[in-house]
Amino acid sequence: MFTIWLAFLGLALGSFLNVVIARVPHDESIVRPRSKCPKCGAALAWYDNIPVVSWLVLRGKCRSCKAPISPRYILVELLTGALFMGCLARFGWSWPLVGALTLVVVLVPLVFIDAEHWVLPFELTLPGIALAVVLQVPNGLDAVKTAALGVVAGFVLFRVMEFAGWAATGREALGAGDKYLVAMVLGFLGWKALLGLVLLASAQAAVVGVVRMRLHGRAHQGAAKAEGEGEGEEDAEDEQPARQKWTPAFLAPGLPAWKRVVLVPYALLFQDVPDPILDEETGEDTWEPQANNLPFGPWIGLAAIELMLLGPWLAQQLSGTAFALHGRLLFG
Ligand SMILES: [Zn+2]
Repeated sequence: MFTIWLAFLGLALGSFLNVVIARVPHDESIVRPRSKCPKCGAALAWYDNIPVVSWLVLRGKCRSCKAPISPRYILVELLTGALFMGCLARFGWSWPLVGALTLVVVLVPLVFIDAEHWVLPFELTLPGIALAVVLQVPNGLDAVKTAALGVVAGFVLFRVMEFAGWAATGREALGAGDKYLVAMVLGFLGWKALLGLVLLASAQAAVVGVVRMRLHGRAHQGAAKAEGEGEGEEDAEDEQPARQKWTPAFLAPGLPAWKRVVLVPYALLFQDVPDPILDEETGEDTWEPQANNLPFGPWIGLAAIELMLLGPWLAQQLSGTAFALHGRLLFG
């Protein structure tokens, strides 16, 4: 009985997460106004908002103007419901279930927003980080420490990788928001999940990236042959913007000594690495994702869910093999 209730809760929250995904990237309120069709502006009645059922009944089209409604809506609802059931199967009716469901509720919109807009809004990651730590309070000081250490470890590792990526390529190689996402995930999973998370996320991203590159490369060659021209345009696109120097805020001229001291931790932890793609006059990001680019956030999200739901099972599969120690280190 409670299981069915939790499944419905998952579907209903998934429906709400659709609103979050559609509105948070545009800085719109998630409470008001009521949902409208983006095409014709017709307000949605309550019976148009029933998770899954409404989408199926309307066959993915607006009731008034028949404009197609993205399959993302039903996908997010079903996914959230399924993940809720997965969490219940893994944790049962226990306190850790609350943390697991909370992680799902913040992670699902972050993954979909990052996939579409290439941003990980602070409105989601920062409350997520806070919740990850606060939810450990009933489990005692050690549990809080494990969560807080996870937040710090994830943030610092990805901050270092941000610098390393910039030093190697002269441009922003990692999204600036990725470190907050990793900090949040490791807050929920604990710092011990760091290695497994990074390896799972990178490995899966690399495999899919290579496959996509192959497919896209072939399609691209075919198109170029068919057109017989367009190679000149390509050269212009490949031109790299000039590398920029990173000037830490505490080295700015004319600052009093105390301000420099205060600015050292800020610059090392939070000051953005220089991005030559930023427009010099407006400071706006002029970068457009190419067909082969993939944001990293969804891979972190996928790896987080896999570790949370399947981690112990994976470790168990490897126990008794030569990889038993790796299994415990990565997934246990
Ligand atoms: Zn409409």
